[in-house]
Amino acid sequence: MRVLAKSSCLGRLLLAAVSLTVSSLALADGHGHSHPHAHGQANAEVSLQGKVLKVEIRGAMDNFLSFEHAPKTDAQHAQLTALQDQLKDAAWLVVPAAQAQCKVTSVKAESALFDLSKPVKGHADLDVDIAFECANPSALTSLRFSSLDKGRRMKKLMVAYVGPSGQKAVTLTQAKPVLELK
Ligand SMILES: [Zn+2]
Repeated sequence: MRVLAKSSCLGRLLLAAVSLTVSSLALADGHGHSHPHAHGQANAEVSLQGKVLKVEIRGAMDNFLSFEHAPKTDAQHAQLTALQDQLKDAAWLVVPAAQAQCKVTSVKAESALFDLSKPVKGHADLDVDIAFECANPSALTSLRFSSLDKGRRMKKLMVAYVGPSGQKAVTLTQAKPVLELK
């Protein structure tokens, strides 16, 4: 009996150790891309490879909505639906220089607020992945981040770019919403 009790005690200790490891892994993982959750600012990664231009914008939902929890009122539900509609149009977030002739090939937006079947924990984020195919990529001299348009909640966007002209990191603002590439 004593031996059994000992081993089950050890078992419980082992289980506790295992579940601790699992929960700290889950915490570290987050939603896959680590960035600080900050209001009024977001991060963007831009890459141009051949004709494919990719723009990923990630940040606090506060950049796009006046709330970050599951919607509670009809007005909040309406705001969330309106945002999901706006996110279908890449130009609402980013506009590549016209002469590069970039056409949107996909727009994917993810947020805990877009799947209300699960409880929303803490402040929600928004991740948007946009892909373009540019007929004339060498003419891609700039990208305007319309996500920084006047009156929007996003005030600052930290942009990291990688493409044929090299790499650069720039902080854009509502006063300077254009990423210059040439
Ligand atoms: Zn927040």
